[in-house]
Amino acid sequence: MNSPFAFHVADLRSGRAEPRDISAEVSVSWKVELSRVMPEPPLRFDFELSPVGGGIAVIGDIEAVVEHRCHRCLTEWEEEVVRNVGQLITVAGDDEDADYLLDGDAYDFETMIRDELILDLPIAPLCRPDCEGLVDEAGSDLNTDLSEDERGENSPFSVLKDLLDTGD
Ligand SMILES: [Zn+2]
Repeated sequence: MNSPFAFHVADLRSGRAEPRDISAEVSVSWKVELSRVMPEPPLRFDFELSPVGGGIAVIGDIEAVVEHRCHRCLTEWEEEVVRNVGQLITVAGDDEDADYLLDGDAYDFETMIRDELILDLPIAPLCRPDCEGLVDEAGSDLNTDLSEDERGENSPFSVLKDLLDTGD
């Protein structure tokens, strides 16, 4: 029971048990491709656990803040994510192929919560549908004007800017 995602659920294996609510706030830093679940504010989950035949039903939601990085221009932004959860924890022995298996008195919800959060994250995040992306490998961005310094005569950006101005 060292994991902050682990809860005693042995009582819920009995068909006579009453449904029970659990909730917690946990700081995580899960990274997938160009998105990251932020440690602050901590991820929060609220689940109702109900005994059902062969397992425990999990219904509730997960809230987290996810930081995305645009795959074209590398701009980063944060998004509040809410996932509605409807899952089943299967008691080991009934169906060993189940996604979520209870083997013991406690269940660690980390894998389930991680799966739910990560499954719907974009593979290639875009800061906006018409993002123009990067101009070159130096990291300048077509979405923002060049600064005064970058317009200096000796700046390689001034050459690029001229090319772009005449190009269109
Ligand atoms: Zn972008």
